[in-house]
Amino acid sequence: MSDLPHFSFGIPILELVYVVASVLFVFGLKMLSHPLTARRGNFLAAIGMVSAIVATLLFHRKDGEPIRNIALILVAIVIGTAIGWTIAKRVKMTAMPQLVSFFNGMGGAAAALISILEFPHVSPDLIARTGMANGHVLAILLGLMIGTISWAGSMIAFGKLDGRIGDLRVKAMKYVNLAILLVLIGFIVFIMTRHVNASSELSTYVYMMFALSVVYGVLFVMPIGGADMPVVISLLNSFTGVAAAMGGFLYNNQAMLTGGILVGSAGTILTVLMCKAMNRSLLNVIVGVFGGGGESVATAAGSIREITMSDAAVLLAYSKKVVIVPGYGLAVAQAQHACHELDKLLDEKGVEVKYAIHPVAGRMPGHMNVLLAEADVPYEQLIESDEINPDLPNTDVLVVIGANDVVNPAAEDDPSSPIYGMPIVKARDARNIIVMKRGMGKGYAAIENLLFYNDKTRMLFGDAKATLQNLVNEIKNL
Ligand code: NDP
Repeated sequence: MSDLPHFSFGIPILELVYVVASVLFVFGLKMLSHPLTARRGNFLAAIGMVSAIVATLLFHRKDGEPIRNIALILVAIVIGTAIGWTIAKRVKMTAMPQLVSFFNGMGGAAAALISILEFPHVSPDLIARTGMANGHVLAILLGLMIGTISWAGSMIAFGKLDGRIGDLRVKAMKYVNLAILLVLIGFIVFIMTRHVNASSELSTYVYMMFALSVVYGVLFVMPIGGADMPVVISLLNSFTGVAAAMGGFLYNNQAMLTGGILVGSAGTILTVLMCKAMNRSLLNVIVGVFGGGGESVATAAGSIREITMSDAAVLLAYSKKVVIVPGYGLAVAQAQHACHELDKLLDEKGVEVKYAIHPVAGRMPGHMNVLLAEADVPYEQLIESDEINPDLPNTDVLVVIGANDVVNPAAEDDPSSPIYGMPIVKARDARNIIVMKRGMGKGYAAIENLLFYNDKTRMLFGDAKATLQNLVNEIKNL
């Protein structure tokens, strides 16, 4: 450390910047937990990351030598920034989940590449002292395994969210996945117990581990479909964080370590919360087993009844309590502003309006919160589905806007359904139900929804934005 630039009171600049960057990450993450502060939080964390990168390029020393190949590194940064910036600018809001999954996968790939590159360079002195059983090698192998699984799994998740890849469900897959996981752990033990002079002698095993991790990443995400994607997405997110933290250990880089641990632990907490919200066990998530595992037996029963725009306007305007259930279709239609206009209008007429927020509504965790915050819907109006469910029998009208799976009673009634066991918004408990959607299209889980055939349900077909705008005009004219 003595060759690093120091302040007069003896603190190395690089270390100081890393501490500041870590503090910015922590505050940024904290601010991300509320829609009103999330944007600033993101910006704060970005400042932390940029400072850590710039300080590393300027002040990092290895054996007294500054970083070489600065020009190459800068070119890579410029190309990466240009690609990331362009994609992020152009992406449609509804394709955001795929993009997030793709970017997450790139983080995992970077961590895996670090491991592949660093493995042959483990210090011969260290190997002479400890053999291969040392923290350095362990960090490399864990970074390789977890980073590769995260990369391969995220690419499959990207394909699924983008509608390019379907589900592949074979019962024995659970055992195959568990076996692969055990073999991978076996590889780590095997490599770390070898007696060699240089780690490069074991490179072949590292490539085999890489290949097997790719297979595992693909296989464990392949069977996941229906309503279970959110859980696996947050799990992959935590994997990338842990893999990056391994890089932090490896390079003794505090900013990388803190960043990785923050992503890893936040992702793990989110995964546990999602598991709870979806009523799934964590072990089943890790080996890729979800849901009822079968095809839903629910078939269309009864008839669909529609409601006219004017009847819907009267029903809503003369209600006391209205609950809106937003879903993916609201995001597709970009109808959040029209939706807020409806709730303000009803509020002016003395109607109490609340939103029922299901944890997996939309296509990414917190999707509905972000969407409604964009339209300035007060946060206090958004109520978690668990919390609002007991109140639904006293609700005059429940308006489902572009939601489907999150109100599907098959989750409670049909043990063969892939969404069986997932807690839902208990829409059928409300006195009246209005469902806004374009037609009889299915939701993400691609199963029939008997709520639409319920005696209390009336359909209001059309694009959610146009329907809401017409409804607002109709209510104004009452
Ligand atoms: P769904 O995907 O179940 O249903 C959305 C509905 O919106 C469709 O039935 C569609 O019907 C309707 N719709 C589409 N476009 C429009 C439009 N322009 N106007 C009006 N309606 C429209 O959404 P939910 O939010 O209920 O459920 C989310 C699903 O996605 C769950 O299964 C969840 O597990 C899964 N998922 C969630 C993730 C997350 O992190 N939140 C991540 C990945 C998956 P129609 O075509 O007839 O209009």
